[in-house]
Amino acid sequence: MANFDLDLFVIGGGSGGVRAGRLAAAMGKRVAIAEEYRFGGTCVIRGCVPKKLFVYASQFPEHFEDAAGYGWSSGETRFDWRTLVANKDKEIARLEGLYRKGLENAGARVIEGRAVITDRHTVQVGGETLTAENILIATGGRPNPHEALPGHEHCIFSNEAFDLPELPRSIAIEGGGYIAVEFANIFHGLGVETTLVYRGKEILNRFDGDIRRSLHEAMEAKGIRVICQDILEGVEKREDGRLDVRFKEREGMTFDKVMLAIGRIPNTEGLGLEAAGVETGVKGEILVDPYSRTNVENIWAIGDVTDRVQLTPVAIHEAMCFIETIFKGNPTQVDHDDIATAVFSQPEIGTVGLSEETAQKRYDELEIYRASFRPMRHTLSGRQEKMMMKLVVDAASRRVVGAHVLGPDAGELAQVLGITIKAGLTKDAFDRTMAVHPTAAEELVTMYTPTYRVRKGERVEG
Ligand code: NDP
Repeated sequence: MANFDLDLFVIGGGSGGVRAGRLAAAMGKRVAIAEEYRFGGTCVIRGCVPKKLFVYASQFPEHFEDAAGYGWSSGETRFDWRTLVANKDKEIARLEGLYRKGLENAGARVIEGRAVITDRHTVQVGGETLTAENILIATGGRPNPHEALPGHEHCIFSNEAFDLPELPRSIAIEGGGYIAVEFANIFHGLGVETTLVYRGKEILNRFDGDIRRSLHEAMEAKGIRVICQDILEGVEKREDGRLDVRFKEREGMTFDKVMLAIGRIPNTEGLGLEAAGVETGVKGEILVDPYSRTNVENIWAIGDVTDRVQLTPVAIHEAMCFIETIFKGNPTQVDHDDIATAVFSQPEIGTVGLSEETAQKRYDELEIYRASFRPMRHTLSGRQEKMMMKLVVDAASRRVVGAHVLGPDAGELAQVLGITIKAGLTKDAFDRTMAVHPTAAEELVTMYTPTYRVRKGERVEG
């Protein structure tokens, strides 16, 4: 057997790479992990974590307004963008430190630098050459630069949005996915005049139709301009630094900033994949089997770089399956079914399983249970925003195949609903469950009669 320097070389210190490196090192394996930027990856440094902190920041104006109905007067309020950015940076630095420490405490060698694969067992990093029995690629992705758009170089992406020197007065955001929708709500909440531009008929393609429409309405009611069925055709910088935007379908407009959020692409360039013979797909993503193994037997890939499902918990799950498979003698396929997820829009979306539209294609008959109501916390505040809960049930088996929530704490609910869907629970199990009163979530177990049925794709009442 060949003698390698390491049992495992991990390229990329994001959520997936760090989890795999830490677990392997804790098992006594000889592990090195290389990261060219900052440990923590997209999620910690320029994704989920700072995004959620910004979401909290952007919710305060509504909290101040809502307080009045409960007898509070909050006086004059002021927002300081730089304080938010500085405090966010401190928190990220703290988390980054924890990621590093976790690796080092487990016994992994932490290398700062860009690693390049030179053959299937060899990696070069910072002038050093190391051999490894296994190589794990977890280099993540980055925003699609939208090079086809004239003037794209004047635009920002989610990366820059976290560190703008100043908060713009107005912004246009192109895209209708997670990032565009979340940032539209963040910027609006912070007082920025916000326009969302989406090419499709309704934002958040692939989510449940009722939830998409209701979120769209709620965003418009708050004052976000939502433009569907249009795209940006060009962005020009004016002398005053503002940006003139040309649209395909409508009159041009001028904004302080333009943000592009049209998806993310895998980081695979310059990694040495050709040297090792690793196959990639059309977007440059690394192709892997259900165990996350590439076409090269000892090279593996997890997380966004494989473009399977671009979510942090998925990358972590893939890392854990990888460890089971190669170091614990327990080959474990990655399970990508029924992933619960949240969009931190305002109101928030929490969802798991099938949308009504997808379920219609799979099942002959569905029962749809839907409730739309004003949550109790909005009664005294006077806020008109409604909450929606929806269960999609396969009539034949009674299994709940989709659960969707729009409203406060929907992401928290999605986590628990995820367990019920994963466990294959039936609507009867929901009906047998006692309500927790008074909560908004009790609606999930008290929707006893279907709002309507869908038979062979046709909606029928009752
Ligand atoms: P998404 O894939 O969610 O959305 C991309 C959006 O851009 C879609 O609306 C898409 O339209 C549109 N689009 C794609 N190409 C073009 C184009 N050429 N011109 C105009 N519009 C275009 O990507 P995001 O960038 O929003 O996010 C990337 C990933 O990050 C997500 O898939 C998600 O997995 C993850 N993420 C998760 C979050 C969470 O869990 N809360 C938060 C943020 C990101 P169409 O729908 O028509 O294809």
